[in-house]
Amino acid sequence: MLSIAIDGPVGAGKSTVADEVARRLGILHLDTGAMYRAVGLAVTEAGIDPADEAAVTALCLEGKARVDVRYENGGQITLVNGQDVTCRIRSQEAGTAASMVSRYPEVRRMLVRRQRELAQEKPMLLDGRDIGPVVLPNASLKVYLTASPEARATRRLNQLAEKGETADFATILAEVNARDHQDMTRAVDPLRQAEDAVLVDSSEMDFEETVAAILRLAEAANG
Ligand code: C5P
Repeated sequence: MLSIAIDGPVGAGKSTVADEVARRLGILHLDTGAMYRAVGLAVTEAGIDPADEAAVTALCLEGKARVDVRYENGGQITLVNGQDVTCRIRSQEAGTAASMVSRYPEVRRMLVRRQRELAQEKPMLLDGRDIGPVVLPNASLKVYLTASPEARATRRLNQLAEKGETADFATILAEVNARDHQDMTRAVDPLRQAEDAVLVDSSEMDFEETVAAILRLAEAANG
């Protein structure tokens, strides 16, 4: 069964690129970051401090942070304890909670198990931080999508400008570097390029070129 893994650092455009590649291949896209965000949301809504590993682990073991996804018209709906949280997980707060709870082995075990089950049901493209090395070690294609910190900070700045927000380049660049450091040095499943992953550096590519590059790799991998 066709399975595609796309990993990479924050701001490399993984989610939007992954969405478009999956759409053109006619397969589903699983945004695994959404699942970590859903746990983050469940934790904060239960009144638990995301920094409290024991309490977060207990909540997961009690089955009170059950994450699932379903698809409507090809789009991912993310659920926690049966509730649709697709929009609410996009908040800054859910993102911060997600990056804290994603460090805990029990959270990862629970979500990785569900991600593998989903990928066994249908041809799928998964994007995240640990898909190639951990979740789908036998994926048909593994891509490590990255761009220079400067290119990623520039894109972020442009996104903010489109929303009418102004920000300072040096501050955004420092944030990008801090997130990289956090994701790459954490003890459990740090972000890294799988040995058999193809590196796609999009620093000098626009969106369409990046999508096309990955589609070519997917076609080659699919025979
Ligand atoms: O990609 P996104 O920003 O939505 O991910 C939210 C958080 O979940 C990130 O901070 C990242 O560290 C974590 N994550 C993870 N493993 C994945 C996907 C996301 O640890 N496969």
